[in-house]
Amino acid sequence: KRKLDPEDEAPRKIHEIGHGQAVAAHYNELQEVGLEKRSQSRIFYLRNFNNWTKSVLIGEFIDRVRRKKSDITVLDLGCGKGGDLLKWKKGRIKKLVCTDIADISVQQCKQRYEDMKARCRYNEHIFDAEFIQADSTKDLLSSKYNVPHTCFDICSCQFVYHYSFETYEQADMMLKNACGNLSPGGYFIGTTPNSFELVKRLEASETNSFGNDVYSVKFEKKGEYPLFGCKYDFHLEEVVDVPEFLVYFPLLEQMAKKHGMKLVYKMTFREFYEEKIKNEEHKMLLRRMQALEVDLTVLFDSERNSALYGLILPVAQ
Ligand code: SAM
Repeated sequence: KRKLDPEDEAPRKIHEIGHGQAVAAHYNELQEVGLEKRSQSRIFYLRNFNNWTKSVLIGEFIDRVRRKKSDITVLDLGCGKGGDLLKWKKGRIKKLVCTDIADISVQQCKQRYEDMKARCRYNEHIFDAEFIQADSTKDLLSSKYNVPHTCFDICSCQFVYHYSFETYEQADMMLKNACGNLSPGGYFIGTTPNSFELVKRLEASETNSFGNDVYSVKFEKKGEYPLFGCKYDFHLEEVVDVPEFLVYFPLLEQMAKKHGMKLVYKMTFREFYEEKIKNEEHKMLLRRMQALEVDLTVLFDSERNSALYGLILPVAQ
């Protein structure tokens, strides 16, 4: 585990350090586990299923861009330890900028990329990459770092955007970072917990929390859901135990309009699965990724039933 700064060891109030720092500290401390240990995990299939969903989503939007141009540049906002690097390699993109608030995760992501590059066979293609540690809800990437000269075709924000809904300013800054450097016709795609489902489950519960033996969600109270700062504690076995915020999707859509974006589509994971599984290639990928060995009804009922979205910056007229 990472050795904490002695100052960090004294319990400090959340308003002093901010939720962002707590989130970063949490992700920094997460251990990378090997394949063997991962396959014994109780959330093995769930992880694989989420990964399949991201693969199909990313592949779809790479295809959309590739119809217009061949050199594709991507911003991975909240890249974590680089769980999507292979997807970008498969998509044969030209350049990737990875950014995350957790410095250790960014280092691990960079290392993973270097290892991948070293394993490349002669003539095998791998994208160029840049790695930036930044709080995307507070730092403007284009002014603080060397991002302004880059025009992204895709900004991918996988399981991250909900951390920004602490305040309007933070949510708007993250949107600015996601959409502000997109080329005309570029896409902002992502996955985030489905707030409608979360509230529905909370309202159906007799207490302020719900879940099962693998995950739990705990709100401070029921019945009041402010647009920003509606915090809940999310716990998922082995992975996450952090404060998150409800994202009211119609509001995200409105805010994105301010940045010139238009909604392409928004779906729940279930709807996405039901549509994409009709395609033989996606079906085979689901098998290869070992995500089908679980009863999907159980999966959808036992997890947070995330939603995904794709927003497009329309081509300027
Ligand atoms: N996108 C990666 C993936 O799908 O594997 C990681 C997802 S992980 C659930 C959430 C990530 O969001 C963590 O790596 C965390 O550090 C990052 N994150 C949270 N708040 C952030 C912020 N304000 N700015 C940048 N990254 C943030």
